[in-house]
Order: sequence, then structure tokens, then C-alpha cells
Amino acid sequence: MLTPKQLRMAKRRNPRARREPRPIAEQTTSILIYDLHIPHNYRFVALPWVGLRYPELRHASLAGHQAQFTDYTGRTQVFAIKWPRVGFGFRPYFVCTCGRQVTRLYIRYGTLSCRRCSRLLYASQVCSRQMRPRLQATRIRHFLDSMSEIGKPFPRKPKTTMRFKTYNRLKSRALALESKITRKGQHLSNRFSTRTLWPRTNYNSRRTVLSLG
Ligand SMILES: [Zn+2]
Repeated sequence: MLTPKQLRMAKRRNPRARREPRPIAEQTTSILIYDLHIPHNYRFVALPWVGLRYPELRHASLAGHQAQFTDYTGRTQVFAIKWPRVGFGFRPYFVCTCGRQVTRLYIRYGTLSCRRCSRLLYASQVCSRQMRPRLQATRIRHFLDSMSEIGKPFPRKPKTTMRFKTYNRLKSRALALESKITRKGQHLSNRFSTRTLWPRTNYNSRRTVLSLG
């Protein structure tokens, strides 16, 4: 049976306190393991540039079996690295404190953890069913041209980094999504920053996506 609203509110420690909304993954600083060039042996290598890319961190040191991240308070967080077999090779994964093997660690209030431990949501999970085609179509447009917007002429093919076949595939996919946008999905959530609207994959083309830190 559903709990009545009054009872639910009464049981809260501070009924007036509003909970912080769950943050959006795309807008949270994160470390992708493939960006770090993990060594294939047990010797630790320091990454002096780590603070330039991830402002929350002061120092990082990596070996094939472990990653150590130090922040500005001097706290060091250690993550094991595992190399499960994928296809014909091996691929590195961080092991989060919860035991999950992940490729990306998120930094929230100075603490590194996986997406689930950080309680993050993907932007698409925040969207309603009406909003989602708009988000997807915007990402495809930004992949072709970062200034492009829905309602304006479709961007031209990037000259050197894409084949016509790929371009036509993306164009038809984006236009199909745009035709699905209804009046209800006209606006995206106002929690989204431009970062959320950046493409997340390279859509099987040779064009590279800016890796999001
Ligand atoms: Zn975790």
C-alpha cells in the first residue's frame, strides 16, 4: 500500500530540508582509464600533468595493477586495476571500492568513485520521453558542427574526417529524431549545461570526440 504523503514527510529527519538532486554524470569531472596510458608492468609512473586536466587532483601515480590519486588535502585514494580479457586482448578497468569494474571514475567533493557510488544520473535519464529525441539529435548535430542547432539547416559533412556513408547515416538518424520532437519536448531540462549536449561517442566514424574530463 502507498504511504500517504503526510506520513512520508513526517518520518523525514528534517521535513523542510530539500534533498540535493542527483547530479548529472556528463557534467561531473571524470577520469577515463583509456586517457591515462596505464603501464603494462608493476613499476609506478608519476603523472605530473594530472592537475592541469583534473583540477581536483594534485598528483597521480600509476602502475599496471594500481592507481593512486592524491588531492590537495593530501588524501590519497587507491584503486586496483584489473585487466580482464576482451576479444583478443586485455583492457584495463578500475576497481571501485564497491567492487565494480569501471572504465570511468567520477570526482564528487574530492572523492573518486564509480557512477553508481556517486549517485549520478545520465542526462538521458533526467529527460522525459518527449525530451530524449531532442537530446539525441542535438548531440549528433554537435558532432558534425558544434554551433549547429535544431531548426537551422543541417550541418555539412566534415571535409576530411568522415565518409559520405557515415554522414548520410547520421543525417537520416538525426532528421528522424527531429521529426519525433513534439511540442512537449521543445525544451530540454534547464539543469543541462552545454557540456551535456556534447557528443559522447564517435558514432563509428574516424572523427574523434573531445574526451570529456
Ligand atoms: Zn562504486
